[in-house]
Amino acid sequence: METILTVNHLTKKYGYLTAVKDLSFSIEKGNVYGILGPNGSGKSTTLGIVLNVINRTAGDFSWFGGSISTHDALKKVGAIIERPNFYPYMTAIQNLKLVCKIKEVPQDKIEEKLEMVGLLERKNSKFSTYSLGMKQRLAIASALLNDPEILILDEPTNGLDPQGIHQIREIIKKIASEGTTILLASHLLDEVEKVCSHVIILRKGEKLYSGPVGEMLTTYGFFELKAIDGPALVTYLGNHPSFGPIKQENGLITAILKEEMTASSLNQDLFNNGIVLSHLVKRKESLEEQFLSLTNHKD
Ligand code: ADP
Ligand code: MG
Repeated sequence: METILTVNHLTKKYGYLTAVKDLSFSIEKGNVYGILGPNGSGKSTTLGIVLNVINRTAGDFSWFGGSISTHDALKKVGAIIERPNFYPYMTAIQNLKLVCKIKEVPQDKIEEKLEMVGLLERKNSKFSTYSLGMKQRLAIASALLNDPEILILDEPTNGLDPQGIHQIREIIKKIASEGTTILLASHLLDEVEKVCSHVIILRKGEKLYSGPVGEMLTTYGFFELKAIDGPALVTYLGNHPSFGPIKQENGLITAILKEEMTASSLNQDLFNNGIVLSHLVKRKESLEEQFLSLTNHKD
């Protein structure tokens, strides 16, 4: 595995406010990472620090295993962290030619990149005639002109209509499928779920979870139960090694599983132990519920 970016105990303070707190994670080549968190959780600050546009307060980061300077490393990074800004009276082609001159990269990739983002047919239209979605796609094409190792996007679908959102997500998936590593910040759980292979969840600048998107669902679910003899049920569950926390609310008992168990085996087990249920439902939290509980929880 090749590490593209390593972030170690990064902290950023703005006066008394800690925007990023002791954050560590690493980005491996070929994956699509989402930094997921509600507004104000420190996503843009984190991206700004690793792109050298925001100074860190403590901690450090290194690109490509630290083998080259940050200045040289950033030449291999494509990033869009602001609203796309091009010359309105110039066409897509003219704007991208200018970008090539500024970045000192050859112009021979322009058409290929416009094709990638679905703008080849509109290459001779002025930027001012583009919709917001097209502007965003042009920005992606522009960020790809130097064939970066990694593409960084901050809230890439903000402000777009549903069709525009869908187009951007498809383009991100296509870029990833061709081997470019991607790091995107988003406050939208479904965006991260749809586009990313890995996720780093932030809340108030702190990491709550990082790992494969699929493994966010590792919980084995929970049972909602009622019994004729409630206290006996609670005692039994409390002593059972397969269960974590037991909650009671309005006579309904919620028991969170620490390992796999079917509803029928629990029912049988309880009956054998003289506990008769009047209500039994097995549920699995959706990713959304988990995200909400991760981000709303513990103040
Ligand atoms: P996100 O991108 O997740 O919405 P940000 O990284 O933009 O979050 O912001 C994290 C926190 O830092 C927020 O509370 C925000 O108000 C604060 N913040 C960001 N930039 C500045 C700044 N230049 N000065 C003071 N506070 C800032
Ligand atoms: Mg932001």
